[in-house]
Amino acid sequence: MPNNTQAKFNHNLTLRVIELAIITMAITLVLRPLFVTLPTLFTVLNLANLVLALVFYTLVRLDLFPKWECILSLVIAIILIMPMLALSGGVNSQVACILPLYPVFAALIGGYKESLLVTIFLTVCVVLATIFSTDIVDLSEADYSREKSVVRGFWLTMSIIFSGVFGRFFLKKYTEFTEQLRDENIHDPLTGLLNRRGLNRNFSRELDSASLSTSPLSVLLIDIDYFKKVNDMYGHDTGDICLVQVGKLLADNIRKSDTIARFGGEEFIILLPGTTQLDAVKVAEYLKGIVAQGKFSDFNLPLTITIGITERHPQNDNALKMIKRADKALYKGKDKGRNCVEVSE
Ligand code: GH3
Ligand code: MG
Ligand code: MG
Repeated sequence: MPNNTQAKFNHNLTLRVIELAIITMAITLVLRPLFVTLPTLFTVLNLANLVLALVFYTLVRLDLFPKWECILSLVIAIILIMPMLALSGGVNSQVACILPLYPVFAALIGGYKESLLVTIFLTVCVVLATIFSTDIVDLSEADYSREKSVVRGFWLTMSIIFSGVFGRFFLKKYTEFTEQLRDENIHDPLTGLLNRRGLNRNFSRELDSASLSTSPLSVLLIDIDYFKKVNDMYGHDTGDICLVQVGKLLADNIRKSDTIARFGGEEFIILLPGTTQLDAVKVAEYLKGIVAQGKFSDFNLPLTITIGITERHPQNDNALKMIKRADKALYKGKDKGRNCVEVSE
């Protein structure tokens, strides 16, 4: 997932977390007095917590602290839930049930580190609340047995730890899935090379670093000659195999730092960072030679390529202009009879 989408997702998720906390508190505030007679102080504290939660909600909603959302949601856990744990007799709190959700939220919003911190923090709080449950002032004066408190504390701790482990597992799967999607998004399914989207990304990266370092950047636009004939005579599936094999041959014969992409039907583009037009001609001649020597598909078909070359102009150049110039050079090569290398003017 691109960073922007991820940030938006995290932001929305944080809002849902706080909404959940607010709804739990509001329901508690309205329903609890129906079952237990509560001291006024308890209701006042509950109301104050609700107001605090609403303030946090507004802060997150306005997106004032995008980098602090995970911390904010943890602060909400501390400020809203911990006093509630204490006031209502340790782990017998009515809001304790939402605690195990926090490690998962923290994993999604922050990451592994945040989830681990939240898990440890909540576990310590619940263990302490269980140990000192008889000493904590229970303003609700409800009659909770010590035994019941220990059992609840145990299961609450277990669910928080389980949630932490689940958060980790979930995040691993989620990261794998988003990485796979990102990968599919920038690759051509037939040749496995970068597609136009992937090319655009690498092109702007290379242009940026070329302009910063003032090092040269050359582009090769490669077109397979008379490819339509291959399809017409041997079928589209053989054409596909040829495309894959030519793509692989080109990719295997360039540097790791170069970029190769499938530009269109039977056209490829190669970005050569740190390479002048003069050196790019040598690379292109070499690639043209190995394709001409190759035999492609089960029919051992001979193929040739024509290559148009251009180099980045130091001033006012961009990907579109460079591709246009390389394309012009390529068509000059086609006019000259194909299986050749041409440079742009
Ligand atoms: P030229 O030397 O002028 O480039 O001739 P050409 O026949 O290669 O050029 P033209 O643009 O006329 O034809 C390109 C052909 O590439 C047409 C199309 O059928 C084929 N092609 C484009 N994409 C694919 C593909 O994904 N698979 C297969 N098998 N063929 C494709
Ligand atoms: Mg073409
Ligand atoms: Mg062609």
